Amino acid sequence: MKSFTIYNPVKIHFGNGMLAQAGSIAKKYSDNILIVTGKNSMQKTGTLDKLVKILKESGITVTVYDGITPNPTATEIDEAAKIAKQKKVGLIIGLGGGSPLDSAKAIAVAAKGDIPVWEYLKTPANDALPIITIVSTSGTGSEVNRYSVMTNPATGEKPGFGYECMYPKEAIIDPEITSSMPPYVTAATGFDVFVHIFEAFTGKAKNEFSSAYCMQAFYLLKDNLIKAYSEPDNMQARGDMALASALAGLAIDISGVSIMHAMEHPVSGNYPNIAHGAGLAVLALESMKYNLNACKRDYILIAHHFGIKRADKSDDEYAMSLIEKTKEILTALNLNVRLKDLGVEKDKLQKIAKEAFATMGFAIDNNPAVIDEKGVLKLLENSY
Ligand code: NDP
Ligand code: MN
Repeated sequence: MKSFTIYNPVKIHFGNGMLAQAGSIAKKYSDNILIVTGKNSMQKTGTLDKLVKILKESGITVTVYDGITPNPTATEIDEAAKIAKQKKVGLIIGLGGGSPLDSAKAIAVAAKGDIPVWEYLKTPANDALPIITIVSTSGTGSEVNRYSVMTNPATGEKPGFGYECMYPKEAIIDPEITSSMPPYVTAATGFDVFVHIFEAFTGKAKNEFSSAYCMQAFYLLKDNLIKAYSEPDNMQARGDMALASALAGLAIDISGVSIMHAMEHPVSGNYPNIAHGAGLAVLALESMKYNLNACKRDYILIAHHFGIKRADKSDDEYAMSLIEKTKEILTALNLNVRLKDLGVEKDKLQKIAKEAFATMGFAIDNNPAVIDEKGVLKLLENSY
């Protein structure tokens, strides 16, 4: 029997209108805080103004850093950490999708030290400012886990890292904030949830706890991903996808991601205009085929829970039907395209394959089937 230790200290507040609690939640940690967010969406929807007002009404001094770009860079994080130090803030609130939330965690670490954030990839951090996440996409699970992903803009490297001090203290999951996601963002982030479930459920580090989170996340996602995409105002679907995102975020916190994430990070690292979930979408089918033999029983179980009819299919055929089903979902979400359609240049594939190992080696190691750099290059070529 496998031994393992699991730990997740994030206090989760879920529900429509939960944003209103931000003042009383934040006040427990500090009365001088930095909000970290992106450049557009939270301003346009009025969510940022609403949050600032709620915090100020609780007597909190608020500074806003709204320079985080999708697939955030270490430069932005260092810039925000400098502001956090100058203002002597006692709490970082991440508001937005995975990009601002991941950044908030990295800023919380960098603000405690005196080295550039990139150095923390090698130098373990033991201390960070407290972090609160207020999530606006249903995708990364960053709201409830310790991971942060950042890009080196000079090299395109996009590693993930996560230390115990980077767990958010509290997470506010208010589905109303996610309801403004346009269809493309809903599709891409929602497919990220699918891949988290898939990779946590099949990875070598899986255990009964991560699988339990995966199964419930899967049940919520299978009925609601396409619904949230095609009916943006359907609040039941938005709420269920927000739950699926958090459950899958807890699952990857336990058992990690694997090959699709290992390949996707260098894709969106080198091409920051590519959405993480869209990058995963183009890599999913080839990766699933590659892993089929190594985790056939898991595929069969997921196919069964999808409600795919077994009839007289052999194990191989039934496992393959899961890949067909995934293709149908991608088509329904308008994400069934090729790497070249996303603007990736063919002569970059070698660099991407190399970086998958150099920056995401832990995810390669977690892959159910063994794969080398040549194998990864082949998957990239087949997805091109
Ligand atoms: P982003 O946070 O990058 O957001 C994508 C786009 O959607 C942005 O333009 C953003 O606006 C916009 N947006 C966000 N929320 C809304 C909303 N409610 N209404 C309208 N527009 C909105 O996307 P993701 O959530 O997919 O995060 C991706 C990042 O997270 C990547 O760097 C990825 O690698 C990382 N990641 C982290 C994981 C983890 O475990 N921590 C796991 C998987 C991925 P704006 O530009 O204004 O912010
Ligand atoms: Mn992901």
